[in-house]
Amino acid sequence: MTGILWLDVILAILLGYFIWRASIAVIQMLSTPPPEVDPENVVEVDQDYKCSVCGAELTMKAVNPEEDKPPKHCREEMVPVWRPQTS
Ligand SMILES: [Zn+2]
Repeated sequence: MTGILWLDVILAILLGYFIWRASIAVIQMLSTPPPEVDPENVVEVDQDYKCSVCGAELTMKAVNPEEDKPPKHCREEMVPVWRPQTS
């Protein structure tokens, strides 16, 4: 009878230990900061974006190739607008 109890205690400690280790791993994964982006590393562009939710438009004059996701508006990524040069 006592043997089974001890087994339960050991299993509980092991289970608790693994849950604790897993939690630490998840916290470390979540707290890892995103890779550093050099704010000087920009490329000059002339790209228009339109918000598909409210219709707002903006023109990007410079983009960083390391962080080339489209800007967000109304919590949605804006869609690029291509305007052929009229010259
Ligand atoms: Zn918007």
